[in-house]
Amino acid sequence: MQLFNIFGNPVSHSKSPLMHNLAFQGLGYNGVYTRYRLEDGSQLREKFFELGISGANITVPHKEYAFKACDELDEFAQKVGSVNTIVNRDGKLYGYNTDATGFLKAISEFKEIKTVLFLGAGGTAQSTSIVLRDAGYKVTLLNRSPKRLERYKKEGFKTFTFEDFEMNEHFDLVVNMTSAGLEDDSLPCPIEILEEVVLSSKACVDVIYGKETPFLKFAKNYNKPTKDGSDMLLYQGIIAFEYFTNHQYSFDEIKLYMQQAFKL
Ligand code: NDP
Repeated sequence: MQLFNIFGNPVSHSKSPLMHNLAFQGLGYNGVYTRYRLEDGSQLREKFFELGISGANITVPHKEYAFKACDELDEFAQKVGSVNTIVNRDGKLYGYNTDATGFLKAISEFKEIKTVLFLGAGGTAQSTSIVLRDAGYKVTLLNRSPKRLERYKKEGFKTFTFEDFEMNEHFDLVVNMTSAGLEDDSLPCPIEILEEVVLSSKACVDVIYGKETPFLKFAKNYNKPTKDGSDMLLYQGIIAFEYFTNHQYSFDEIKLYMQQAFKL
């Protein structure tokens, strides 16, 4: 039997063990998936081999350590500097980033989207902004504080803070990429800005999943189509599972079983 796990801290809330175990069972694959709370991310590689696992997902705050722990990186993971999926092939660790591709697929249901505003500029925004730009979207970032925006500016993205925001174009899609609303009732940016950007948008998406955040409530009040981060989570899991099982199942076959995790 092959062993897999998710490394993170905290990790007790993660849905990944349920998602992957449902897919292993449903597809009759001889694998089991557990969780591992890792305090020191620099020990990731050592722990990986010590546990004898075949593959792992990596969540907050260890995605950059995971990037450093790999022997080989796929082109996209290399570009964004963050890894959330590792596969062990003959003692070599191969790293991938499936968060961003999962997000891209999750927003594909919204048609006629060209311009996207990210509220937030943290780790998740980093990989998703690049995957979206590569796919032809124009991404602008609005963040509470200027520090995290520096790297985006260098990469050629248009950026604003709350203080210097100017609405000189409209955004088809507005995405909450912050953790505002995750464990509190806060909105991701001042209400005056939110009113302006949401009003002229075609749809609003939150990467937080499993709850209706203040941001999503706000967007619904304006009758905008919305979605939370559940599909992003599901799709990143399916793409990781494809790597874990060496692409022997189709996306839809995996989805059939993995999506049950969201109905329990
Ligand atoms: P980071 O810690 O890297 O970044 C947090 C970002 O949120 C920063 O831009 C920060 O701004 C901003 N922020 C935090 N609190 C507030 C607030 N009260 N008001 C305004 N801005 C705020 O987080 P991640 O990028 O790793 O995660 C972001 C979100 O994405 C989380 O909610 C996480 O749960 C979710 N996520 C969902 C996934 C899914 O599969 N659905 C996958 C991965 C993440 P500042 O720079 O000013 O501090």
